[in-house]
Amino acid sequence: MKNRILTFDIEEWFHILDNPSTQTENEWIQFESRIHRNMDRIFDLLERSQTRATFFCVGWIAKQYPEVIKAIAGKGFEIGSHSDMHQLVYQQNPKTFSSDLENSIKTLEDLTGKKVTVFRAPGFSITEKNKWAFEILARFGITLDCSIFPASRAHGGFPSFQKAEPSKIRYNGIELKELPINYINILNREVIFSGGGYFRFFPYPFIKKWTENSDYVMTYFHPRDFDPQQPVIKDLSPLRKFKSYVGLKKTEKKLEKWLTDFHFTDIATAREKIDWDQVPVVDLNP
Ligand SMILES: [Zn+2]
Repeated sequence: MKNRILTFDIEEWFHILDNPSTQTENEWIQFESRIHRNMDRIFDLLERSQTRATFFCVGWIAKQYPEVIKAIAGKGFEIGSHSDMHQLVYQQNPKTFSSDLENSIKTLEDLTGKKVTVFRAPGFSITEKNKWAFEILARFGITLDCSIFPASRAHGGFPSFQKAEPSKIRYNGIELKELPINYINILNREVIFSGGGYFRFFPYPFIKKWTENSDYVMTYFHPRDFDPQQPVIKDLSPLRKFKSYVGLKKTEKKLEKWLTDFHFTDIATAREKIDWDQVPVVDLNP
C-alpha cells in the first residue's frame, strides 16, 4: 500500500525561524505581503494536477488574511494548524505553547466552521526535550501530528524517533497518530528529499527514483518555495541563504511533474486508508 501525502505550511516568505530580522510580528509587519500570488500558484497547480492536499496554516496569517484561509476551505481542502505565531516549540514553555495552539485552533475553526485535528510544529521543533508538547496537542483535540522530523536538523529534529512511517505515539497516558517526514537510507545516512529546500536542491531524476522506492512519502512545501522573486533576507548566513533560495525557479514545474508521475493524497484520505492497528507504536516515556 502506497501513502504519498501532499502538505503545505501556509506562512509568508519572511516566516524564517531563528533569525533576528524575521523573528516576531514587529519585524513581519515591515515586509511586503506575497502570500496571495503564491497561493494562486499553488491552487492552479493543484487544479491542473487534480490533486488534494492538506494545508497547515499559521494563525497569524488567518488573522491578517482571512480570505486566504477561506479560499483554502472553500476549495474543500483540509486545514490543520501550524501554530499561531510561528515560533520554535522548544523555545516555549508548556503554558505559552498551550495558549499559542489554542489561539491558532480557535482562529482557524471560527473561519472554516470545521474542527482542526491535525498539527505541524514550526521547523519540526518538537524534540526529545519538549515531548510535553504531545500532551498539549491531545488536550486541545489534535488527533494526528506531523511534527516529527526523524533525523538531525538545524531546528528541531527527533533522530531517536527511529520511525519514518505512519506510527502511534504514546506518552504520559495519551496516544497520537503520527505521520513523520520520511527519508531514504544512502550509505547509512538519512536523506530527506520530499520538501522545502531538499526538494528544491535534488535533481528530479533522483527524487523520482527515491519516490519509486518509498511506499510512504510525507511532503512539506511553503508558498515561498514557488516564488523566485521574493526578496532576499540579508542577515541569513550563506548556508541558510543557499537552503532558502536554491532551485526556486524550478519548484513549480518540478512539483507538477512529481504530481503527474505519482499519486498524492491529503492527510484525511491517507488516515482513512492506514490500518492504525498495524502501525508501529513509539513509546516516548522514559
Ligand atoms: Zn513554518
